[in-house]
Formats: sequence, structure tokens, C-alpha cells
Amino acid sequence: MKIPIFALYAIAITFMANQALADLSRIENKEGVVYYHGDPSKKRVALTFDDGPYEPYTSEILEILKSNDIKATFFLIGDNVKDFPECAKRIVRYGHAIGNHTFYHPDLRFISVLGIRREINRGEDIIFKTTGVKTSLFRPPYTCVNERINRQANNSGYTVIGWSVSSKDGGKKIKPEKIAEITLPYVKNGSIILLHDGDRIKGSSRLETVKALPLIIKSLKEQGYHFVTIPQLLRIQGTFDEGGFLLWRNPIFYDKLKIDILHFLCNPSLLAYKYLADFCLSPVF
Ligand SMILES: [Zn+2]
Repeated sequence: MKIPIFALYAIAITFMANQALADLSRIENKEGVVYYHGDPSKKRVALTFDDGPYEPYTSEILEILKSNDIKATFFLIGDNVKDFPECAKRIVRYGHAIGNHTFYHPDLRFISVLGIRREINRGEDIIFKTTGVKTSLFRPPYTCVNERINRQANNSGYTVIGWSVSSKDGGKKIKPEKIAEITLPYVKNGSIILLHDGDRIKGSSRLETVKALPLIIKSLKEQGYHFVTIPQLLRIQGTFDEGGFLLWRNPIFYDKLKIDILHFLCNPSLLAYKYLADFCLSPVF
């Protein structure tokens, strides 16, 4: 029997991808690691919201989550915490996890080590002073990370959190139904889903995300998914011993091919993310 070449290719890719997943699952949390996925054997997902707090959208999202009895994770921009302190407190009061998303949301690849440290520390300070929470979760702006950024985050006691499913609500205006349509097909066990409740540009609207959220929640609930926070998904509250899949540990030594395959398997539509990851993986940085 003659096996078509593309079939052999597909088998090889699947094998390598499985190997990549197996390898990644064994790596413990160490310096230079980005978590972007939870345990694929459990029907759990984590909703994450970036760039808030930002009113009225964050409060609207909080009410939707409350009515669905869901806890999520919010990655806060320090400057927005300064503008909406009550909202930041409400996120915590409602039982959600929060993470540091820097103070001014710069692309950290293009600023000095001192600047990176300052962004992390300023974000941390205002989050702590406002909410009383000392978070250990860090998501770099644009989820763009390299060794230098990772080291600063790790040195400051942070675990760096990526994502595996993008709603693509972060760019141009997009209809709520479209956001749900883009997001849902790629959700699988352990997915970390990226949404936005805020912006750095004053006066921006997140109305589409607010409207898309109930659609996403409804569908995922019908599919039997449970919603958890990032610390619950990755079991990283206090200990780093279990759970979590890792995007890369060291861009220099990591096998780029495996990462590409893994990206593709997790979400074939993640071209932007792949681009960013590739860009960040460049030895230039
Ligand atoms: Zn952001």
C-alpha cells in the first residue's frame, strides 16, 4: 500500500507535537518560563482580561461574571488603577485574581533593564496600595517577552503568564458575535483565554467585549467547561510544583520548531501571537 507523503508528514508532525507537549509538561517552573496553558486533561479554562481597570466596562464584566458565578483573572495597568481605584478594589472584592501588567504598558523589549524594573515595581506598588494584594502574576504588555524581561519579572518574584486563545478583541472594532466566533473554536482543556476590559487610550470602548462575553460563557458552559482563575488553573499560588504548560524556558536553547508546532496545535489562528513570539525569540534580544 502506498502512503501519500502528506500523510507521513502529518503523522510525523503529530508525533513531534506530542513529544513537545510531553517535554514541556515535565519542565518545572524556573527562571525564563512563560505559562500559557493549563492541564489538557481537565475540562477547565481561565478567562483573562487585560488593560483594566477601565470603566464602565470592567464593572459590566464583573456583573456578567458574578451572574454566571465565574472567577477570572485581571491583568491591571498601574496607570488605570490610579484612575479607577474603586474598580480595582471591586475586582478583588468579587473574588477574582489579579496580575501586574506594568504601569504604562510599554513594549518592554525596547526599554532598559532599569526601565523594565521600574515598570514592574510601579505597577506592583499601586496595585498593592490600592487593593492590598501582592500579586505574583505578571503578563508583559503585548505578551511579548524575552530573556531580559523574564529575568526581571522572575527576580521580582513573578510568574510570567501568556495565553493560548486570543479573542482578537484588542485591535480594531469587531462585532461581539465575531469575537465569540473567533474565540470558541480554539478553546480546549486548559486554555487561557485573552480578552480586554480596558485600554491605555483614554475614552476607548470595550463594549464589544462586554457583549461578547455572555456568548462565550454560554457556549463554553454548554460544552461542560469549568471556569477557574490562573492560580487555580496552574496551581501556582504559593507553590510551583504542579500543573501548567510552558511556552519556553530559554529562547536561546529552546527548540523553536517544537514551539511553532505547539502554537499551531493550540490555536492555528494565532498568527499575531506567533509573530510576536518569533520576534521575541530572536537572538537580537
Ligand atoms: Zn495589554
